[in-house]
Amino acid sequence: MISNNYIIYKIICSTFVLIYPEYEKSQYNIFKILLKKAMTKLFDDDAYLKEFKAKIISIIKEDNCIELDQTAFYAKSGGQPGDTGSIEVKGIKLKVLDTIKENNKIINIVDDLKDLEENVDIIGKINWDLRYKHMRMHTALHLLCSTVPLGVTGGQIGYEKSRLDFNDPDKLINKEELEEKINLLVEDNHTITSEVIESSILEEKPELVRTMSVKPPQVDGKIRLIRIGDVDLQPCGGTHVKSTNEIGKIQIGKIENKGKMNRRVNLLLTS
Ligand SMILES: [Zn+2]
Repeated sequence: MISNNYIIYKIICSTFVLIYPEYEKSQYNIFKILLKKAMTKLFDDDAYLKEFKAKIISIIKEDNCIELDQTAFYAKSGGQPGDTGSIEVKGIKLKVLDTIKENNKIINIVDDLKDLEENVDIIGKINWDLRYKHMRMHTALHLLCSTVPLGVTGGQIGYEKSRLDFNDPDKLINKEELEEKINLLVEDNHTITSEVIESSILEEKPELVRTMSVKPPQVDGKIRLIRIGDVDLQPCGGTHVKSTNEIGKIQIGKIENKGKMNRRVNLLLTS
């Protein structure tokens, strides 16, 4: 049976094709990408990989987009920004402006495709300064989440500042107390590891999911969990540092009221 949503979707698509004939072509290209085999995410096993070899399996010329057979570029998701860096092909260097996820594929947006062809070998280089800061920030947000026993309603990782929004109608979060507690966790130097479980196990332990609005990423019925010593365990597909002392000193910034229920905790790294 065809659902109403599908009919609405097709009407929107047809309207787009009438207004922008190029849209149909780009839809075909996205479909082409979907048919190719799944990409290996090298950052899942080694978040510290700065350079890697791969092959181009798809090019979308009109959007300056590339898909690789394997990648260490993290695609924007779960509040963590996409990686930037470069892709080198036969001495030619392309700038990677952003990395995004589309239909579960990781896509690099580059500055210029320069007559690039599919099935050629490349060397990918991650903008490590940016990525490592995101890894430290990301891990700091896990600690923040474990320190505040309230539901998380949103979050964003940034280079200068990151944030988590909590469901805190009674205004229980205290900035000074929070800063002291979270820095003690950093100093304790807890180890960070990942493990993969069947998603059905998560249904038995729903308390593991702290975010109220975002569902944890699932791949083939499996979910990746990130464990910080005996401090925190939660589903996450992002990149993290290996130990909490890599985060360095954490500064809790402004705590802002966002509506009646939500409070936004801003977090900064001092080094
Ligand atoms: Zn994470």
